[in-house]
Amino acid sequence: MVDNQHARFPEPALTETALSEPAFSETRLSESATTDGPPSTATHAQALEVLRELVGNPTAGFHEGQFEAIEALVDGGRRALVVQRTGWGKSAVYFVASLLLRRRGAGPTLIVSPLLALMRDQVAAAARAGVRAVAINSANQLEWDTVREQLAADQVDVLLVSPERLTNPSFRENQLPELIRRTGLLVIDEAHCISDWGHDFRPDYRRIADLITQLPDTVPVLATTATANSRVVHDIEEQLGAGVLTIRGALGRDSLRLGVLSLPDAKQRLGWLLTHLADLPGSGIIYTLTVSAAEDTARLLAEAGHEVLAYTGRTDPADRERAEQLLKDNQVKALVATSALGMGFDKPDLGFVVHLGAPSSPVAYYQQVGRAGRGAANADVLLLPGAEDRDIWQYFATASMPSEEKAAAVLTALAEAGTALSTVALEARVDLRRTPLELLLKVLSVDGAVERVGGGWRSTGQPWIYDAERYQRISEARVDEQDSMVIYQDTAGCRMEYITSVLDDETAHACGRCDNCAGQWFRADIAEQATAAASQTLNRAGGVLEARLQWPSGMDRLGVPVKGKLKPGEGLAEGRVLARLTDLGWGGALRELFAAGAADRPVDPDMLQACVQVLREWGAGDSRNPGWSGVGRPAAIVSVPSRGKPELVGSLARGISETGRIPYLGELQLAHGGPTGSRGGNSAYRLAGVWDRLVVGPELEAALGSLQGGSVMLIDDIVDSRWTLTVAGRALRQAGAGAVLPLVLAQAG
Ligand SMILES: [Zn+2]
Repeated sequence: MVDNQHARFPEPALTETALSEPAFSETRLSESATTDGPPSTATHAQALEVLRELVGNPTAGFHEGQFEAIEALVDGGRRALVVQRTGWGKSAVYFVASLLLRRRGAGPTLIVSPLLALMRDQVAAAARAGVRAVAINSANQLEWDTVREQLAADQVDVLLVSPERLTNPSFRENQLPELIRRTGLLVIDEAHCISDWGHDFRPDYRRIADLITQLPDTVPVLATTATANSRVVHDIEEQLGAGVLTIRGALGRDSLRLGVLSLPDAKQRLGWLLTHLADLPGSGIIYTLTVSAAEDTARLLAEAGHEVLAYTGRTDPADRERAEQLLKDNQVKALVATSALGMGFDKPDLGFVVHLGAPSSPVAYYQQVGRAGRGAANADVLLLPGAEDRDIWQYFATASMPSEEKAAAVLTALAEAGTALSTVALEARVDLRRTPLELLLKVLSVDGAVERVGGGWRSTGQPWIYDAERYQRISEARVDEQDSMVIYQDTAGCRMEYITSVLDDETAHACGRCDNCAGQWFRADIAEQATAAASQTLNRAGGVLEARLQWPSGMDRLGVPVKGKLKPGEGLAEGRVLARLTDLGWGGALRELFAAGAADRPVDPDMLQACVQVLREWGAGDSRNPGWSGVGRPAAIVSVPSRGKPELVGSLARGISETGRIPYLGELQLAHGGPTGSRGGNSAYRLAGVWDRLVVGPELEAALGSLQGGSVMLIDDIVDSRWTLTVAGRALRQAGAGAVLPLVLAQAG
């Protein structure tokens, strides 16, 4: 239970990219603290008794650092930061401390924790030790009144709340002041979230810093996290206030056997999985970087007879819960998951973690692989990096930063409205999509520039200053982290030592088990039929492109006279897309084609062939889908005039016309200077940018007239909001096309 064998290893040399701050040796607990024998105070005896009830084991003892933290909180009334790997027993610290403080007459403990699932487990665990724990979160609104009554009657030892609760106006007004007055201990779980430098910084967590400043100095505060480098630790310490006791344990996990296998492409990586998944010990997790990759991989493995399930942000919550349970019970070999399978998932005997593509930071990677080998002596951890990883990191990174311009636009819109605006109403005023808009509003709200009220969001009139320097710093730190992941793949040294030293673990040392220490422990051969199956899956093309049925709201503000549903005779038929940009198979070729600065060129023959195959299947239909979406074989082809890729779109349209013997009638015409704006804006702005700007010219109109109501296939290169296609399709239908069937190479987003 006590990992003091690490202490005698020599200090590893820090690599270039490792952060240079010293790692808290002054506050750090000596690794050999417990070997001097336990402290024999009354607090220790009481704490031990409570711990034994909590874990249901009459001989249980504290891990090193646990009692020291409890003592600092209970006897010292101090602020403490515990940085210990998952499974070390952070919750034991706060439950034992809570109960001891309660026995000494303190008010209830307030625990801020981001995970509802985790809360359920914690409440149940606490009850076993006689801790009366209750939770307030968005999932149990019906119980709030009861909880309030219990609090008033002093019948609650521990109150768990989600960070989002802290930003809720009515909670802040009606309940928080009384809680702050009475709280005996404040616990901040997953405390790396309060740091800008944390890998999943959440604006809601910045409210916690306010909360700490409002607490009387005498109230102890405990912050806990499993993964934090020195920079994050510093930042949390600063927010906790003066005199923080930091207890930092070793990160290295002896049970993990790390390895990296670089393979040339996705086909080989999937081929490897198909060949070797069954050899991996027990059951585990296969992580992918994108939802599409998780779904494609899961499908491929399942078709080859492996018991796997996909688990992503797109998976229904009930299905996710079921999938987690099946993995816990070893009823599946693996879940193929995105980072959605994250904090809070606990399976001590997880046998392996394989990554198809590397996460963008050592912290994220370590957190994911650290789910394995907690309760087992051996667990295998293999990274199969991809050439496209960097592009994908970039893709996600640019989506998450607030921009000064967008923030100013939101503030101006709210100030001009003079009243509260809902997110939907804001979308017609600011060109931002739902998720980034909501994130930006949260940042502005934490900074005090806007506030959430009954009808939506309102400006507070407080000036807001864009902290360009801060965002610059954060974005530089992200690049450093990405570089560290690349070095991890290329290093010839011990991988465990590298990753734990990048995470500022003082005890980082060569593990003797990884592929660099002990030689390659995994096989690298790939069965021939496996690559064939993988390539079949990867080459499989064709996704459904659903038609827009509803105009965005608030279009009149943007000068577009539409609202509500599209009228019959206006909309598109269900279309087809070759692939999404994030797909494992065609995604790579498409990302290259649409990369910034990529030259326009005619469509590649293989890609054209794949499109023809998509059309063949579309035309044939199946049991669920009538051929040609039920509107009949297209009598003609029309293309969308492309601003960036005329050669690509033209050659695609001509190629399909020749192969399918369907006449190509040419392009629509640009009007009013053509579409404005670019991919990535919100729906309302995208529609306003294309409205009235794509029209049917006289020649095309004459040709359409001669079709006598036949269907038209509409070809474009890339689709995002679908408004270009919808506006083009509407123009075609008004000019006599009976139905419009869109076919597009790539789907973004
Ligand atoms: Zn090693």
